[in-house]
Amino acid sequence: MFDLLVKGGTLPDGSVADIAIQGDRIAAVGKIEGEAARIIDATGDLVAPPFVDPHFHMDATLSYGKPRVNASGTLLEGIALWGELRDIATVDEMIERAVAYCDWAVSLGLLSIRSHVDTSADHLRGVEALLEVKRRVAPYLDLQLVAFPQDGLYRVPNGRENVIRALDMGCDVVGGIPHFERTMQEGADSVADLCRIAAERGLPIDLHCDETDDPMSRHVETYAREILRHGLSGRAAAGHLTSMHSMDNYYVSKLIPLIAEADLMAIPNPLINITLQGRHDSFPKRRGLTRVKEMQAQGITVGWGQDCVLDPWYSLGTGDMLDVAFMGLHVAQMTHPEEMARCFTMVTENNARIMGLDGYGLKVGAKANLVVLDAGNPTEAVRLRPDRLFVVSKGKVVSEQARNDARLSLGGRPGSVRRRHVIG
Ligand SMILES: [Zn+2]
Repeated sequence: MFDLLVKGGTLPDGSVADIAIQGDRIAAVGKIEGEAARIIDATGDLVAPPFVDPHFHMDATLSYGKPRVNASGTLLEGIALWGELRDIATVDEMIERAVAYCDWAVSLGLLSIRSHVDTSADHLRGVEALLEVKRRVAPYLDLQLVAFPQDGLYRVPNGRENVIRALDMGCDVVGGIPHFERTMQEGADSVADLCRIAAERGLPIDLHCDETDDPMSRHVETYAREILRHGLSGRAAAGHLTSMHSMDNYYVSKLIPLIAEADLMAIPNPLINITLQGRHDSFPKRRGLTRVKEMQAQGITVGWGQDCVLDPWYSLGTGDMLDVAFMGLHVAQMTHPEEMARCFTMVTENNARIMGLDGYGLKVGAKANLVVLDAGNPTEAVRLRPDRLFVVSKGKVVSEQARNDARLSLGGRPGSVRRRHVIG
């Protein structure tokens, strides 16, 4: 007898299968006859592995309006505002906001998050808070923490020392922000330094990289070189890469193969960068997104990141990775049927590779994590961003939502509507 049986769902590849769960593992996938303590009927619904967010800032989330809103809407005013909030926020308040965000995440089927945590201030209260959050949510959500020198590795006193202290305290990943150092040279030096730290400690590395409209911000080139030098391929990621949007095409024709050679994985954050970038432009205004399809065409792993929800940089957001995929699809013009479906893969499988998650996916022996969506296939899920009917984490149903059809009163028309639409 199984603990849980999810019957008749449509998997992301279009096949129809039952999924049996025993303890915290998937015990069987296919046509399954057998008893279970609980059976979920997923007939006609999409059953997918859970959403994964490889780029978030949980120390700042749900703080919108504190100490005041970002009037200019720029990255730089956001960083300045956060600098004030960071020093007045208490550990308890940060824990409360972060755990509340994790409730939202679970309800949306988002079960793995990599959060950067600011290490710029000597008090390291964010690190202390998020290590406690990681411990509290561990029964249902996997949280990775990046030691992130928001104000620059070299630009503030003790910037480098505090990153080391945060790693010693238990952060999982080495972070950095080369485009925010004082000079291009110091940015490049920070990349080399951080890659050496990651190699020496055997840790993954994930840098905010070239989040600027300046086409001469080329730290990603140095980053790829240092990844190759230190053997970090496959455990290195770069967030944003927005300068690539504005770079010269000839230069990019050399750069993208170098990124592919280094197996450097890319995390564009479309909700944030479509609002932050291009603020210094008049018209035409640049889109503020890196070259997604062009990198994918050369075999580079590209995911979509959430980055921010209700904080000094972004005044909206819910934690729904389908909002992220929806925006990314539009801004990157990924409208071919294969590209639309790929946007769903980006917030599931691609992001799981970026985070280095073990036991991910709907296969025998994998962790029993899944989400049942009120949609027929991955593209429809991106289009509708529908209710998550069931979310299963580590073998347990952790969130349920009733199907929410609209009731119509139109005389001669159906009495309810769900906005599903099967193509073909
Ligand atoms: Zn970020």
